[in-house]
Amino acid sequence: MPHLPKKFCKTLTMLKFQKNDQIKITAGKDKGKAGKIDAVLGNGVIVGGLNLATRHQKSAGEGKPGGRIQIPKPIGFGKIALICPKCSKPTRISFLSEKGAAKVRICRKCKAKI
Ligand SMILES: [Zn+2]
Repeated sequence: MPHLPKKFCKTLTMLKFQKNDQIKITAGKDKGKAGKIDAVLGNGVIVGGLNLATRHQKSAGEGKPGGRIQIPKPIGFGKIALICPKCSKPTRISFLSEKGAAKVRICRKCKAKI
């Protein structure tokens, strides 16, 4: 996307992924794994059960034992691919603006609206 302010590019990338989308991780230690988007953040997405970081937590008093807890960390937009619900393949997204309607997402492989 040439000649566009960086901020705008980022916003557009964020729009490509939405909560409850099925995605596949294309890079990093969880490469090849698939999951569902739980939340979309400014710098990536949270996918349930993937890209976990282990945090060592101290005991916070009686009844609250410490230990290792696993928290999901955001996965960068560049490391994920959307899985098209129609053709079940990791795909890239393009946008289609229809007159009088909101922008819709299109699968670049099967041209289905997502
Ligand atoms: Zn498709």
